[in-house]
Amino acid sequence: MNDSVFVGELSWKEYEALVADGQRVLFLPVGALEQHGHHLCMDVDVLLPTAVSQRVAQRIGGLVLPALPYGYKSQQKSGGGNHFPGTTSLDGATLSHTVLDIIRELGRHGVRRLVLMNGHYENAMFLVEGIDLGLRELRYAGIDDFRVVLLSYWDFVKDPQVIAQLYPDGFLGWDIEHGGVFETSLMLALYPQRVDMSRVVDHPPATFPPYDLYPIDPSRTPAPGTLSSARGASREKGELILEVCVEGIAKAVGEAFENAP
Ligand SMILES: [Zn+2]
Repeated sequence: MNDSVFVGELSWKEYEALVADGQRVLFLPVGALEQHGHHLCMDVDVLLPTAVSQRVAQRIGGLVLPALPYGYKSQQKSGGGNHFPGTTSLDGATLSHTVLDIIRELGRHGVRRLVLMNGHYENAMFLVEGIDLGLRELRYAGIDDFRVVLLSYWDFVKDPQVIAQLYPDGFLGWDIEHGGVFETSLMLALYPQRVDMSRVVDHPPATFPPYDLYPIDPSRTPAPGTLSSARGASREKGELILEVCVEGIAKAVGEAFENAP
């Protein structure tokens, strides 16, 4: 018997047997192809939610769908902006409709429990829209017991003691974490071969006015593309983040589906 948690590695008969009763939790990692500074590869937002999904799925007996490798357009204050070479983004409606299509197909297979594991800040509201459209379509088809949990894995790192360990000089906020200590530490723990710490550009945290102006002024983004320095990143911090996320998400997903009406 194939014991992989990755749906793409199963035969359709194995998959059918695993999802038939609707009890199994499926994870859909949703990422982006986006620049992450000079020291990281561009598929960070795909790799990290996939790795978290894999570990949570192994813990709770779930399955992991192939990740969506593209996401919504990078925004200046959270991802540096959509003007960098390599950053390759979808229109919001394309992302929402992709989620709709996947929910419809999973519903047809008998799946009733889905976790959207977001790895790219800008995706969030378009995932909400995709879930809404998907559940509406399933309702019209007479399926009203499909449940979706939407989460961004970094939201599970909340404990002030953990934050203090990660940021001994003070935490600056998730919005400017792009390519910084958090993502770089996780990459060092999971995919060290895709990180080149010698190319980290040390720069002060990005500062932006409390409004957005379009088209954006690219000169407001720190030139390397990161929004804060990754200088303080380490494998140990990455392992700590991973442990906290996997533990917290496994518990939350269990509770969410158990308590769902
Ligand atoms: Zn990222």
